[in-house]
Amino acid sequence: MVTTDTRGRPLRDLRISLTDRCNFRCTYCMPRHLFGAEHLFLPKRELLDFDEITRLARIAAGLGVTKLRLTGGEPLLRRDLDVLIARLAAIDGIEDICLTTNGSLLTAERAHALREAGVNRVTLSLDAIDDDRFMAINDVGFPAHKVLKAIDNARAADLGPVKVNCVIQRGVNADQILPMAEAFRHTDVVLRFIEYMDVGTSNGWRMDDVVTAREIVDTLRTRHPITRLAANAPGETANRWRYDDGAGEIGIIASVSQPFCGGCTRARLSALGELYTCLFGVHGRDLRSPLRQGASDAELAALLSGIWHARDDRYSEIRGEQTAAGRQNPDNRVEMSYIGG
Ligand code: SAM
Ligand code: SF4
Ligand code: SF4
Repeated sequence: MVTTDTRGRPLRDLRISLTDRCNFRCTYCMPRHLFGAEHLFLPKRELLDFDEITRLARIAAGLGVTKLRLTGGEPLLRRDLDVLIARLAAIDGIEDICLTTNGSLLTAERAHALREAGVNRVTLSLDAIDDDRFMAINDVGFPAHKVLKAIDNARAADLGPVKVNCVIQRGVNADQILPMAEAFRHTDVVLRFIEYMDVGTSNGWRMDDVVTAREIVDTLRTRHPITRLAANAPGETANRWRYDDGAGEIGIIASVSQPFCGGCTRARLSALGELYTCLFGVHGRDLRSPLRQGASDAELAALLSGIWHARDDRYSEIRGEQTAAGRQNPDNRVEMSYIGG
């Protein structure tokens, strides 16, 4: 069954945030002054358990979801993640299970267990190749070379195709564009530069901090000729480029300067069990309460499809108009670490 929203967009992807916790304090995502020792993370009992996550994923699959992305917070903080993945992989209709991680806990053994359980794609985040620079960004002293080791672990375990996300902020790591590109040329890893987005409110985002896709392409071209490729699939988030000398592929996620809401088929489930139909949502819809109050599968499916049918989100498309009109963006948008990227 295909469930479409008010703009005719089908529900295809479900991004599941497994925890709001993270062992990094990336300055643009969980800045330490807001996510310090006093920050109250969700107590364990509040998080959806594996039965609840599996049940909601199965219901979503019944409505057309084929792809699951496990994220957070840091999803590898969730114990026995491979047990959950094996259960998700067994759901009828689920074709693709991807994981987004900072890589800090991706040992060779864990990578192998995840592959065995059914993860077929992994995205690791790395915002600088220089150790000191990366440590300053993650703010917990985790060096870049350890993420490179995690990438190797993922490749060795055949957790591929491996992608690397690199969020570029002006004045922070724009000078890392070329060194990052060099590090992954001539490998099968697809590096994807991401425009810094105004997710949540704690990062104090300003348009001036965004290094646009155009600027990223221009920077890459100072060293290597690159050519734009056609999209692999409709609704693909990254613009694909290839090095003309055959050194591989590179992606650019231009969510700010070239919004792609028209093809957005993604719903997000927070660790608390709220459904967000847009990354820039202010309120999620509580699915955990009906789940815990004994709702039947049919009732949950009706709730989910009702939410999707009513969906009208196109935040990134209207962001520009709002900014141009001098209007404030909503000041209570949900944080990225809460619903996952
Ligand atoms: N902790 C995991 C990680 O870092 O890969 C998964 C969760 S993290 C929220 C998912 C992705 O969102 C990461 O690649 C991160 O760099 C990206 N991200 C977080 N805040 C962002 C922002 N304001 N703009 C663009 N990307 C962002
Ligand atoms: Fe943690 Fe990922 Fe956010 Fe960094 S981007 S603080 S690793 S959730
Ligand atoms: Fe989808 Fe919202 Fe992002 Fe647009 S702004 S692409 S609707 S998540």
